[in-house]
Amino acid sequence: MTAYLNGEFLPLSEARISPLDRGFLFGDGAYEVIPVYSRHPFRVDEHLRRLQASLDGIRLPNPYGVDEWRAIILRLVADADFADQTVYIQITRGADSKRDQPFPKDVPPTVFLFTAPLVAPSPTQRESGVAAITAQDIRWGRCDLKTVALLANVLTRQLAVDAGCTETIMLRDGFLTEGSASNIFCVKDGVILAPPKDHRMLPGITYDIVLELAAKHGAPHAVRPISETELLLADEVWMTSSTKEVLGITTLDGRSVGRADYLGKPGPVTRRMHAWYSEFRDEVMRKTDA
Ligand code: PLP
Repeated sequence: MTAYLNGEFLPLSEARISPLDRGFLFGDGAYEVIPVYSRHPFRVDEHLRRLQASLDGIRLPNPYGVDEWRAIILRLVADADFADQTVYIQITRGADSKRDQPFPKDVPPTVFLFTAPLVAPSPTQRESGVAAITAQDIRWGRCDLKTVALLANVLTRQLAVDAGCTETIMLRDGFLTEGSASNIFCVKDGVILAPPKDHRMLPGITYDIVLELAAKHGAPHAVRPISETELLLADEVWMTSSTKEVLGITTLDGRSVGRADYLGKPGPVTRRMHAWYSEFRDEVMRKTDA
């Protein structure tokens, strides 16, 4: 697998960084994950804008302009052995000669990218949905920044794995925030509900697309705080992320989500939204081809 490290393209197995790298010592860095379909990166500008916002949020100057980022991404994508990919980008505040918390002076950032095969949900997961659990959100106060300090997400996600589930849905002060690696939507009486973007959740690229699609197709929707009770009593729940796209959650805390007529399957609004999403993605990819 090809990687990019600090100006050089090289096999991933040969990429090396210092143990004094601040990403390793402090989780002092930001990252992005961009899905690639048939070698076409999807929504690159939006991902690069969010990367800029994350870097601004942690006061780390962006080492490259948009065109430079695009060129690196396209070269990695072209060199890969597989057509559907995820490009991972990570920038840290570099490696100083000592371990000290304040920002180092005159230390270049570490820039690392690699591309891996896209792992999409299986046909069974699409057909039957997946199981999730709820847990308290134990993360810090800037969940809107995509930083590499993901220990709280890792611990929270492991709770799902330990329970034989796919995702953990987090609650803070009795309200839905997001999944450990996804945004969460629910449906009640035909209305799509999404929590508002603020410092408590990552502004998902897929989240935005879903709301755009709801508006475009005239699907009733509201962006507002969602209480734990509303989540647990929702007719439908789904997760969104760049790799999962729109994926139904059909079991929550061991109980079936939704109404008897579609128990065990994603509900009608989830299925419709996933179909709109696939259609939209394919249309964007076709335009990129043209
Ligand atoms: N929320 C968290 C915590 C995430 O890690 C992710 C993606 O990895 C998302 C939401 C979804 O974001 P996106 O749709 O941009 O992939």
